Amino acid sequence: MTYDLIIIGGGPAGITAGIYAARQKLNTLLITKDFGGQVARKAVAIENYPGFEEISGLDLIQKLEKHLRKQKIDIKRDEVVELKKTGLKFLVWTKSKNKFEAKAVIITSGSDPRPLEVPGEKKFIGKGVSYCSICDGPLFSNKTVAVIGGGNSGFETAIFLSKISPKIYILEAGPKVRADEVNQEIVRKIGKVEIITNALLKEIEGDRFVNSITYQDQKSKKIHTLKVEGVFVEIGSQPATSFVKGLVDFNERDEIKVEFETYQTKTPGLFAAGDVNIGRYKQIVTACGEGAKAALSVYDYLQKLKN
Ligand SMILES: Cc1cc2nc3c(=O)[nH]c(=O)nc-3n(C[C@H](O)[C@H](O)[C@H](O)COP(=O)(O)OP(=O)(O)OC[C@H]3O[C@@H](n4cnc5c(N)ncnc54)[C@H](O)[C@@H]3O)c2cc1C
Repeated sequence: MTYDLIIIGGGPAGITAGIYAARQKLNTLLITKDFGGQVARKAVAIENYPGFEEISGLDLIQKLEKHLRKQKIDIKRDEVVELKKTGLKFLVWTKSKNKFEAKAVIITSGSDPRPLEVPGEKKFIGKGVSYCSICDGPLFSNKTVAVIGGGNSGFETAIFLSKISPKIYILEAGPKVRADEVNQEIVRKIGKVEIITNALLKEIEGDRFVNSITYQDQKSKKIHTLKVEGVFVEIGSQPATSFVKGLVDFNERDEIKVEFETYQTKTPGLFAAGDVNIGRYKQIVTACGEGAKAALSVYDYLQKLKN
């Protein structure tokens, strides 16, 4: 069977694209590794999604997923590993060796946490190294932990962890933290968060589980060791685009180039919405808006194909 549309990704952009596509009566398949995407990593409440003065990431995801599942749409939990176009058709292969066909595709695969790429990181994933405080934080109750990254995500992670951990370090490689003043203020009030700037992480050490980290002071060049049992990586994200090489152009940050009237890439019928594209303001509400616009563009594209 050939679908009208395949949507890759179940974050805010993909879910909204799914709702809009179903309402246009497009025969749609949404393939996603999980629901909610980065919203699931949100450690403190969301306060800038219109209609909800304050809502937790998990509550918002549940509401979005419930809304999507009310539509007439096929949904598969799987990972897309390859995307090709032959003639007017797109072919999509998944990790579980399924192959699907569609006349149009919207990529809404967002982004993944950027890894530290230091010795010990890979070895201790799931054994003290985490990229999601809200998922793994409870495993670190009463343990001293380090958060790597002094931006808003790092500070929000420290705020979340402060409810369960007795001591938290925030390590920032630059000379200044980059978090908003509001988050800095909260962290100052908490008291048990120690911020170390100019701290370049060098290694994560341990036996079966993490027991320390080593960093270099960028000014003095001295090496320091901290005894910690958890390391939360919050140094930004990278677009999840490994399956799409060839059909699209990328900018210098590996984001997919689109034109902003329709969200179409350089390949006719292939669209990209949300954090995965070159759009500058990466937020839940903008991802939803782009998902909606991309789905409506697909509808127009398919109408033109018919004629
Ligand atoms: C810690 C943190 C806090 C944030 N706080 C806020 C906030 O307070 N307010 C706000 O507006 N925004 C916030 N953001 C940003 C917001 O979460 C993102 O802008 C938004 O989630 C982007 O949505 P998206 O659908 O484009 O991508 P994502 O949310 O990244 O979703 C991508 C989806 O694609 C799936 N996927 C990826 N690759 C594949 C593949 N190969 N095959 C199948 N599925 C795949 C993923 O599993 C995921 O479901 C925050 C982000 C982070 C990380």
